[in-house]
Amino acid sequence: MKIMQPAPILGIDLGTTNSLVGVVDSGFPILLADENGSRSTPSAVLHGEDDKVTVGAVALRQRALHPTRTVTSVKRLIGRRPGEAGWVPPYVLSDLKTTPVEVSAEILKHLKAVAERALEQSVSKAVITVPAYFNDAQRNATKQAGELAGLEVVRILSEPTAAALAYGLDKLSEHQKIAVYDLGGGTFDISVLEMRDGVFQVLATAGDTQLGGDDLDRLLARFIAEKVSLPPDDIRVSEGAEAVKKRLSSDETASFNGLEITRAELEKIAKPWIGRTRTHCLRALSDAGIKAEQLDEVILVGGSTRMPLVRDHVREIFGREPNTSQNPDEAIALGATIQAGILGGSLRQVLLLDVTPLSLGIETFGGLMNIIIPRNTTIPAKAGEMFTNAVANQSSMLIRILQGERELAKDNWELGRIEVPFPPVPKGGARVGVQFRLDANGILHVLARDTATSTDTTLEIRGTAVDVADERVEQMIAESVDFAFEDMNERVWTETRLKAEELLPAVDLALAQLGNTIDDGEKSEVIRHAAAVKNLLDSPAHDARALKEATQRLDDATQALAVMLIDRAVEESLSRRGLV
Ligand code: AMP
Repeated sequence: MKIMQPAPILGIDLGTTNSLVGVVDSGFPILLADENGSRSTPSAVLHGEDDKVTVGAVALRQRALHPTRTVTSVKRLIGRRPGEAGWVPPYVLSDLKTTPVEVSAEILKHLKAVAERALEQSVSKAVITVPAYFNDAQRNATKQAGELAGLEVVRILSEPTAAALAYGLDKLSEHQKIAVYDLGGGTFDISVLEMRDGVFQVLATAGDTQLGGDDLDRLLARFIAEKVSLPPDDIRVSEGAEAVKKRLSSDETASFNGLEITRAELEKIAKPWIGRTRTHCLRALSDAGIKAEQLDEVILVGGSTRMPLVRDHVREIFGREPNTSQNPDEAIALGATIQAGILGGSLRQVLLLDVTPLSLGIETFGGLMNIIIPRNTTIPAKAGEMFTNAVANQSSMLIRILQGERELAKDNWELGRIEVPFPPVPKGGARVGVQFRLDANGILHVLARDTATSTDTTLEIRGTAVDVADERVEQMIAESVDFAFEDMNERVWTETRLKAEELLPAVDLALAQLGNTIDDGEKSEVIRHAAAVKNLLDSPAHDARALKEATQRLDDATQALAVMLIDRAVEESLSRRGLV
């Protein structure tokens, strides 16, 4: 049987200045590059005079030439922070006969094409991130943009939550809190999150949509322009300023046109700029009702947090070392990709280390699978059930431990078997409790106890939860779906057959005992129903529904016999004791 590869779900960071797209490949989240090898696409859309739409770096390069035709930072128009002074773009969307949703859709379409080219496969679903402060209308607008781009938006994810996923903080325990400090090119966001019931809740969010690395570039450009006697809006100066700023994040000095600039000089210019994030941080903490010491982690997002000065500032505000383990410009896209992988099931291998990949159970009467710990149960887990003997005078019970999703024991995998001895008892007389305990390491401890003697038999099976190869798990699940109808029919058939096989001898016995005391009509009715059940049992067709109905009819028809039998037994007993 062919194992179906599910179509991947994209993770998309639809940013104000840059957008990124990723996908989970072979269990790993990866960000996808365009044909130029770039993993980041400028969120710029050029509406050419010929109505031709261009997206990304090519559009951005034309901005100086066509300032009114190049749409940038459109996210600000979709998602204006409530109460914040409006931002006036250099273009008029209505002149371009377009809307923020349509422009966003163009960017998403471009990202979809980047992904399809890289994956050599078409994609139709995505997780898209939005700022935590986006309201319903803004989230819906983003979703609409996705749909317009031909993507089913399976989840709108908050950016700080995505960042936390990328930093691996989904493993935090209940009520642990984190701050996500996000300083990008044009916007600043600070969010305080708390882990509740296994998911992040945004406790507070604050920020400034007009504060980012671009502002510092302008300040530095002015400083440089003065020294080299060029206008600060000269493209060489503004681009040079950004390059110098970036260089100074790793080096102590950088040069522009023979001019040497030190990190100390940049930091002097940057101090008031970075100082503006402070009040927002304090505000978010106070809105969340917590003190900085109560945070378990502070994570950094956005390219500007690469600056040592920014890190110093964050350390000072929160009184702790920020976590810098992830690439700050890619964290949101990476988190969106991880979320997409979880939703699409392709991250199963990584994430299900803590859950059972397949159901665990034992074989019961008639060769059926009896599930004790269902698939996807979080481990450690413990569950048990009571079983009895099917045959009279049985003196032991064989317990086959199974793993799988099929209804019949024979279609699942046998992990082991144990034999539980007990003194011979009539049918249904034994009481054997079977308990499964799956520990945190995925080791299954099976305990079977004969309750009459309190004798325990135990077995340890290793690697049930974690060592199952992913393809085999997928195949087992796929087969359980493919054969669901046949499997269920066989289960119902077996359960009904067991019941019928008990009922038929009981009916024969009753008829023999009652002899002529019942009227012929009733008797032939019962015999007819019994014959119908026997016929079905002998037929190779295994028609579960017909057998169930026939058995039910026989059961109903014999109700009167059962009452008569009881009456007769009572009468006999009374007469034996001379009471009647
Ligand atoms: P983002 O919006 O996350 O892509 O961040 C973009 C901003 O980060 C721009 O202002 C960049 O100039 C800035 N940035 C990127 N890399 C660095 C770096 N190494 N040092 C300082 N700023 C940087």
